[in-house]
Amino acid sequence: MLSPNGSCARLLTTREEVMSRLYKIGSSAAAMGAIHILTLLLSWYVQVIDETERSIQGLVSPYATMISLVGGIMAGIGVIIIHFVKRLRLMKNILGASIIMGGFLATVSPIYSYWFWLLDLSSYSRFDLGFFVATFTGVILLAIGALALLTPVKEEVIPMPFATPQPTTPELFEAGVAAPSPTRPATTKLVPAPDVEEAICSICFDFIPEGEAVRCSNCDAIFHKGCIDSWVGINGTCPSCKAVVIEG
Ligand SMILES: [Zn+2]
Ligand SMILES: [Zn+2]
Repeated sequence: MLSPNGSCARLLTTREEVMSRLYKIGSSAAAMGAIHILTLLLSWYVQVIDETERSIQGLVSPYATMISLVGGIMAGIGVIIIHFVKRLRLMKNILGASIIMGGFLATVSPIYSYWFWLLDLSSYSRFDLGFFVATFTGVILLAIGALALLTPVKEEVIPMPFATPQPTTPELFEAGVAAPSPTRPATTKLVPAPDVEEAICSICFDFIPEGEAVRCSNCDAIFHKGCIDSWVGINGTCPSCKAVVIEG
Protein backbone atom coordinates (compact mmCIF):
# COMPACT_ATOMS: atom_id res chain seq x y z
CA MET A 1 0.00 0.00 0.00
CA LEU A 2 2.93 2.35 0.67
CA SER A 3 4.80 3.61 -2.36
CA PRO A 4 8.58 4.04 -2.01
CA ASN A 5 8.56 7.83 -2.29
CA GLY A 6 5.98 8.11 0.44
CA SER A 7 3.26 9.68 -1.71
CA CYS A 8 0.70 7.37 -0.20
CA ALA A 9 -2.45 7.77 1.77
CA ARG A 10 -1.26 9.80 4.75
CA LEU A 11 -0.73 7.76 7.88
CA LEU A 12 -2.32 8.99 11.07
CA THR A 13 0.66 9.66 13.26
CA THR A 14 -0.48 11.27 16.46
CA ARG A 15 -2.68 9.89 19.20
CA GLU A 16 -5.08 12.78 18.73
CA GLU A 17 -5.52 12.06 15.01
CA VAL A 18 -6.19 8.37 15.59
CA MET A 19 -8.64 9.08 18.43
CA SER A 20 -10.45 11.70 16.40
CA ARG A 21 -10.83 9.20 13.55
CA LEU A 22 -12.07 6.48 15.91
CA TYR A 23 -14.60 8.79 17.55
CA LYS A 24 -15.90 9.87 14.12
CA ILE A 25 -16.28 6.23 13.09
CA GLY A 26 -17.95 5.41 16.41
CA SER A 27 -20.40 8.31 16.10
CA SER A 28 -21.36 7.27 12.57
CA ALA A 29 -21.94 3.72 13.77
CA ALA A 30 -24.06 4.95 16.68
CA ALA A 31 -26.19 7.05 14.31
CA MET A 32 -26.56 4.14 11.89
CA GLY A 33 -27.48 1.80 14.77
CA ALA A 34 -30.18 4.23 15.90
CA ILE A 35 -31.58 4.46 12.35
CA HIS A 36 -31.60 0.67 12.19
CA ILE A 37 -33.67 0.46 15.39
CA LEU A 38 -36.06 3.08 14.04
CA THR A 39 -36.70 0.97 10.93
CA LEU A 40 -38.66 -1.36 13.22
CA LEU A 41 -41.38 1.29 13.05
CA LEU A 42 -41.45 1.15 9.24
CA SER A 43 -43.43 -1.28 7.15
CA TRP A 44 -41.15 -4.28 6.45
CA TYR A 45 -43.67 -6.39 4.52
CA VAL A 46 -46.94 -5.97 2.74
CA GLN A 47 -49.45 -8.74 3.20
CA VAL A 48 -52.23 -9.13 0.65
CA ILE A 49 -55.45 -10.68 1.92
CA ASP A 50 -58.50 -10.69 -0.39
CA GLU A 51 -56.83 -8.05 -2.55
CA THR A 52 -56.46 -5.78 0.48
CA GLU A 53 -52.90 -4.71 1.32
CA ARG A 54 -51.83 -4.65 4.94
CA SER A 55 -48.48 -3.23 6.12
CA ILE A 56 -46.48 -5.26 8.62
CA GLN A 57 -44.05 -3.31 10.77
CA GLY A 58 -40.73 -4.82 11.74
CA LEU A 59 -41.94 -4.68 15.34
CA VAL A 60 -44.49 -7.41 14.69
CA SER A 61 -41.85 -10.14 14.77
CA PRO A 62 -40.69 -10.25 18.41
CA TYR A 63 -37.40 -12.08 17.74
CA ALA A 64 -36.45 -9.79 14.85
CA THR A 65 -37.24 -6.82 17.10
CA MET A 66 -34.96 -8.19 19.79
CA ILE A 67 -32.12 -8.93 17.36
CA SER A 68 -32.42 -5.44 15.82
CA LEU A 69 -32.45 -3.74 19.22
CA VAL A 70 -29.36 -5.62 20.42
CA GLY A 71 -27.59 -5.05 17.09
CA GLY A 72 -28.34 -1.32 17.03
CA ILE A 73 -27.20 -0.89 20.62
CA MET A 74 -24.00 -2.90 20.06
CA ALA A 75 -23.13 -0.75 17.06
CA GLY A 76 -23.45 2.39 19.17
CA ILE A 77 -21.94 1.23 22.43
CA GLY A 78 -18.36 0.85 21.14
CA VAL A 79 -17.83 4.61 21.06
CA ILE A 80 -18.71 4.74 24.77
CA ILE A 81 -16.47 1.79 25.71
CA ILE A 82 -13.37 3.20 23.99
CA HIS A 83 -13.69 6.28 26.17
CA PHE A 84 -12.37 4.13 29.03
CA VAL A 85 -9.57 2.41 27.07
CA LYS A 86 -6.04 3.79 27.07
CA ARG A 87 -4.30 1.87 24.29
CA LEU A 88 -5.12 2.89 20.72
CA ARG A 89 -4.81 -0.58 19.22
CA LEU A 90 -7.21 -2.01 21.82
CA MET A 91 -9.54 0.95 21.24
CA LYS A 92 -9.81 0.32 17.52
CA ASN A 93 -10.26 -3.44 17.99
CA ILE A 94 -13.05 -3.01 20.55
CA LEU A 95 -14.75 -0.39 18.38
CA GLY A 96 -14.45 -2.45 15.19
CA ALA A 97 -15.61 -5.67 16.87
CA SER A 98 -18.68 -4.10 18.49
CA ILE A 99 -19.73 -2.33 15.28
CA ILE A 100 -19.27 -5.48 13.18
CA MET A 101 -21.24 -7.58 15.68
CA GLY A 102 -23.96 -4.92 15.68
CA GLY A 103 -23.95 -4.86 11.88
CA PHE A 104 -24.12 -8.64 11.73
CA LEU A 105 -27.18 -8.75 14.02
CA ALA A 106 -28.77 -5.84 12.14
CA THR A 107 -28.36 -7.76 8.86
CA VAL A 108 -29.58 -11.03 10.37
CA SER A 109 -32.77 -9.49 11.78
CA PRO A 110 -34.64 -8.87 8.48
CA ILE A 111 -33.38 -12.16 7.02
CA TYR A 112 -34.47 -14.04 10.12
CA SER A 113 -37.89 -12.43 10.12
CA TYR A 114 -38.30 -13.37 6.43
CA TRP A 115 -37.31 -17.02 6.73
CA PHE A 116 -38.75 -17.94 10.11
CA TRP A 117 -41.75 -15.73 10.33
CA LEU A 118 -42.97 -14.29 7.05
CA LEU A 119 -42.86 -17.57 5.15
CA ASP A 120 -45.18 -19.06 7.77
CA LEU A 121 -47.84 -16.58 6.78
CA SER A 122 -50.08 -18.36 4.33
CA SER A 123 -51.09 -15.38 2.22
CA TYR A 124 -48.96 -13.78 -0.48
CA SER A 125 -46.64 -11.07 0.81
CA ARG A 126 -43.95 -8.84 -0.55
CA PHE A 127 -41.08 -6.81 0.86
CA ASP A 128 -41.57 -3.17 1.75
CA LEU A 129 -39.26 -0.19 2.29
CA GLY A 130 -38.52 -0.96 5.96
CA PHE A 131 -37.05 -4.37 5.10
CA PHE A 132 -34.52 -2.84 2.71
CA VAL A 133 -33.59 0.04 5.00
CA ALA A 134 -33.07 -2.41 7.88
CA THR A 135 -30.83 -4.60 5.68
CA PHE A 136 -28.86 -1.69 4.25
CA THR A 137 -28.21 -0.13 7.67
CA GLY A 138 -26.87 -3.52 8.75
CA VAL A 139 -24.55 -3.75 5.73
CA ILE A 140 -23.38 -0.15 6.22
CA LEU A 141 -22.58 -0.98 9.85
CA LEU A 142 -20.42 -3.90 8.68
CA ALA A 143 -18.52 -1.50 6.42
CA ILE A 144 -18.09 1.09 9.20
CA GLY A 145 -16.79 -1.65 11.50
CA ALA A 146 -14.24 -2.67 8.84
CA LEU A 147 -13.16 0.99 8.58
CA ALA A 148 -12.52 1.02 12.33
CA LEU A 149 -10.41 -2.14 12.14
CA LEU A 150 -8.46 -0.78 9.14
CA THR A 151 -7.56 2.49 10.88
CA PRO A 152 -3.73 2.64 10.83
CA VAL A 153 -2.32 2.80 14.34
CA LYS A 154 1.40 3.29 14.87
CA GLU A 155 1.65 3.65 18.59
CA GLU A 156 5.43 3.92 18.56
CA VAL A 157 5.17 7.19 16.59
CA ILE A 158 2.98 8.87 19.16
CA PRO A 159 5.74 10.84 20.96
CA MET A 160 6.06 13.86 18.64
CA PRO A 161 9.57 14.22 17.13
CA PHE A 162 10.16 17.82 18.22
CA ALA A 163 8.19 17.83 21.44
CA THR A 164 11.06 16.76 23.71
CA PRO A 165 11.78 19.54 26.21
CA GLN A 166 15.14 21.28 25.80
CA PRO A 167 17.26 20.70 28.92
CA THR A 168 18.36 24.06 30.22
CA THR A 169 19.66 23.57 33.74
CA PRO A 170 23.38 24.21 34.13
CA GLU A 171 23.80 20.92 36.00
CA LEU A 172 22.73 18.96 32.94
CA PHE A 173 25.10 20.83 30.68
CA GLU A 174 28.04 20.47 33.04
CA ALA A 175 27.40 16.75 33.39
CA GLY A 176 27.60 16.47 29.62
CA VAL A 177 24.12 14.91 29.56
CA ALA A 178 22.72 17.54 27.28
CA ALA A 179 25.30 19.75 25.64
CA PRO A 180 23.98 22.61 23.54
CA SER A 181 23.61 21.65 19.90
CA PRO A 182 26.87 22.35 18.03
CA THR A 183 25.01 23.69 14.98
CA ARG A 184 22.75 26.06 16.90
CA PRO A 185 24.11 27.07 20.34
CA ALA A 186 21.59 28.09 22.95
CA THR A 187 21.16 31.82 23.35
CA THR A 188 19.92 33.85 26.26
CA LYS A 189 19.05 37.38 27.24
CA LEU A 190 19.90 39.16 30.46
CA VAL A 191 16.86 40.74 32.03
CA PRO A 192 16.65 43.03 35.08
CA ALA A 193 15.23 41.29 38.13
CA PRO A 194 14.23 44.18 40.42
CA ASP A 195 11.96 42.01 42.60
CA VAL A 196 14.74 39.58 43.67
CA GLU A 197 15.54 39.79 47.40
CA GLU A 198 18.53 38.42 49.31
CA ALA A 199 20.03 36.75 46.22
CA ILE A 200 23.68 35.79 45.91
CA CYS A 201 25.63 36.68 42.77
CA SER A 202 26.71 33.55 40.91
CA ILE A 203 30.00 35.23 39.94
CA CYS A 204 31.29 36.89 43.11
CA PHE A 205 29.12 35.02 45.67
CA ASP A 206 28.23 38.27 47.43
CA PHE A 207 24.78 39.51 48.35
CA ILE A 208 22.96 41.55 45.70
CA PRO A 209 21.22 44.70 46.96
CA GLU A 210 17.57 44.92 45.96
CA GLY A 211 17.15 46.46 42.49
CA GLU A 212 20.64 45.57 41.22
CA ALA A 213 20.00 41.96 40.17
CA VAL A 214 20.12 40.69 36.60
CA ARG A 215 18.71 37.32 35.60
CA CYS A 216 19.78 34.94 32.80
CA SER A 217 16.51 34.19 31.00
CA ASN A 218 17.82 30.76 29.98
CA CYS A 219 18.91 29.30 33.33
CA ASP A 220 17.52 31.83 35.84
CA ALA A 221 20.92 32.43 37.43
CA ILE A 222 21.17 35.79 39.25
CA PHE A 223 24.12 38.19 39.05
CA HIS A 224 25.20 41.68 40.00
CA LYS A 225 24.68 43.86 36.97
CA GLY A 226 28.32 44.95 37.13
CA CYS A 227 29.65 41.39 37.50
CA ILE A 228 27.74 39.94 34.57
CA ASP A 229 28.45 42.93 32.32
CA SER A 230 32.19 42.43 32.85
CA TRP A 231 31.92 38.68 32.33
CA VAL A 232 29.88 38.96 29.13
CA GLY A 233 32.28 41.59 27.84
CA ILE A 234 35.07 39.00 28.04
CA ASN A 235 33.33 35.68 27.33
CA GLY A 236 30.05 36.58 25.64
CA THR A 237 28.25 33.75 27.43
CA CYS A 238 26.31 33.17 30.64
CA PRO A 239 28.81 31.78 33.23
CA SER A 240 26.16 29.44 34.56
CA CYS A 241 24.59 27.80 31.49
CA LYS A 242 27.10 28.82 28.79
CA ALA A 243 24.34 30.16 26.55
CA VAL A 244 25.45 32.93 24.20
CA VAL A 245 24.20 36.29 25.48
CA ILE A 246 22.42 38.33 22.83
CA GLU A 247 21.38 41.97 23.11
CA GLY A 248 17.77 42.87 23.67
ZN1 LIG B 1 28.70 39.86 41.76
ZN1 LIG C 1 22.40 31.25 32.08
